[in-house]
Order: sequence, then structure tokens, then C-alpha cells
Amino acid sequence: MKQDKLFSFEFSAPKSDEAIVKIGNIHEKLSALNPHFFSVTYGAGGSTKDGTKKTVLDIHAAGSAVAPHLSFGGDSKEKIANLLNDYKDAGVRRVVALRGDIPSGMGASVKMAYANELVAFIRAETGDHFHIEVAAYPEMHPDSKNVETDLSYFKAKVDAGADSAITQYFYNPDAYFRFLDASAKLGVSVPIVPGIMPLTNYRMLIRFSDNCGADIPRWIRKHLETYQDDPEALKAFGEETVTRLCETLLAGGAPGLHFYTLNQSLPVLKLWRNLGL
Ligand code: FAD
Repeated sequence: MKQDKLFSFEFSAPKSDEAIVKIGNIHEKLSALNPHFFSVTYGAGGSTKDGTKKTVLDIHAAGSAVAPHLSFGGDSKEKIANLLNDYKDAGVRRVVALRGDIPSGMGASVKMAYANELVAFIRAETGDHFHIEVAAYPEMHPDSKNVETDLSYFKAKVDAGADSAITQYFYNPDAYFRFLDASAKLGVSVPIVPGIMPLTNYRMLIRFSDNCGADIPRWIRKHLETYQDDPEALKAFGEETVTRLCETLLAGGAPGLHFYTLNQSLPVLKLWRNLGL
């Protein structure tokens, strides 16, 4: 099954020298799985931008395909063009183009360009050099008015030149399959790879999900609540639940899986083994 599916691993941009070393170690372990690519998140607010670039260039130098996440944030077009050229000159071939989130505390002072504008900019600046990934939201982006406008803006990113998409994480496969059908009806034919968030930490997941609008089904929430002070039980429940989700997605035609590693190797290694990859 592995040969014809796209598997990728995402690292969160490091905020310290220790984190850079840690990601290097995890990259070494995960590269043995021969994924399609790694990606590294980007803080449009600025605090982690250098960490993203350093990590991307390190992973690239170690011989793996890697995609920096990128947003305009408050930066000038010139600055983003320079960053793209640095990546291009280094031989990086893939980017994840995002609007990004306005960092808390920066308020309305930053105008965030929509992702379709960034995709168009990357194509205008660098032609077909980069394979461009964009984000997709099977449960709808929280800022969207309704599912139809959400889908039309997703299509706008693809029409602007995106080659494939990675979804926000979700635990309800029906939302994903419906999103695939709705996108196909609009004429979107690029691969839409599900983003997989391991279930490992109850409080963190609730905090993330409240921010990004991902739904935690009640039955999952109740299990996590029950096991929140029993790490072994929580781990076993999380592994089983996410393994089943991945199996359902792959069996239903998902073109691959993008794992949000949260800079931990064990949860994704366990999923990888459970899935027989
Ligand atoms: P857009 O596609 O620009 O959409 C944002 C909102 O605006 C949506 O509600 C959309 O419907 C609407 N919209 C889109 N285009 C238009 C338009 N032309 N006119 C009017 N409305 C429009 N965040 C980070 O800060 N750093 C990261 O590294 C990062 N990585 C991510 C990786 C993945 C795979 C995913 C799924 C998300 C990631 N995020 C990251 C979070 C992401 O930045 C947020 O979800 C952000 O709020 C939206 O980014 P986007 O690129 O999807 O935005």
C-alpha cells in the first residue's frame, strides 16, 4: 500500500537551540521511514522564522525532501521573494503556502494576505520551481461564513496554482470524504491529504481545537477526559482511535497521510507500525 500513497511529517518550528537539536534527532528517526517529505511550520508573527529556515535547510542538507510553511504575515513582498529565492537556491522544491494566524497581541495591526494571494505570488516569482501545498478544512475554517464560501476560497488557492492540499486535523472521516466530493464537484482535482493529529495530550488538544475549529467528537472527548490522569490508558485509546481513523481514510481513497508530529517521534512511529507501513 505504501508505494502509491503520499506520507509526510510536520515539525513545529523550533523556539530554542535545544529544540533545533531535538528536531534533528527526530528527523533522523523518521527519515528511516522514507516519507514523501517533511514540513516545518512558520510563525507569521516572526518569533520562529529563523528557526523554520534553519530547520528546513538542515533537513534538506541531511538529504530529505522538505517544505517550509510560509505566510506573508506583516512582511513586504520583497522580503518573501528573498526568502523564496534562498530556498530555491538551496534546492528546496516544495512549500506550504498559508495566510497564517494573526499572533495574539498583534491585533488588527497586521493585514494578513490570503493564501491564494501568496500562491499567485510564488508562481509569479518562481514559476513552476516549487510544488505548492495549501491548507484545506473538511470541517470549515473558523473565519468562513459558510461551507460554500469556504470551498470557493479553497478552489481559489488551487486555481492560483496550488498542486496539492493538506487538511486541518479531524476525527470524523465523513467530513473529509464529503469535502473530497464537494471539491471534486467544483472541479478541484489536486490530491487532498488528511492531516493526522495523534491523540496524546488531552489539555493541549482541547486548546488547539478551540483555536482552529477542529471538532473533537463527544465520545472521544469523554474518553480523553476519563483517561486524562492515566497516561497509559490515554495512550492506548489514542493509538487505537487514530489507527482506525487512518485505516478508514486510506481504505476510502485518501491519497496519503500528513502526520502532525508535534516534534515527537514515538506516537507517529507507533501509528506507522499499527498501519503496517
Ligand atoms: P486562507 O486560505 O487564506 O483562508 C483564511 C480564511 O479566509 C478562510 O476562512 C477562508 O475561507 C477566507 N478566505 C480565503 N481567501 C479569501 C479571499 N480571497 N477573500 C476573502 N476571504 C477569503 N498557521 C501558521 O501560523 N503557521 C503554520 O505553519 C501553519 N501551518 C498549517 C498547516 C496546515 C496543513 C494547516 C491546515 C494549517 C496551518 N496553519 C498554520 C494554520 C493556518 O494558518 C490557519 O488556519 C489560518 O487561519 C488560515 O490559513 P489558510 O492558509 O488556510 O488561509
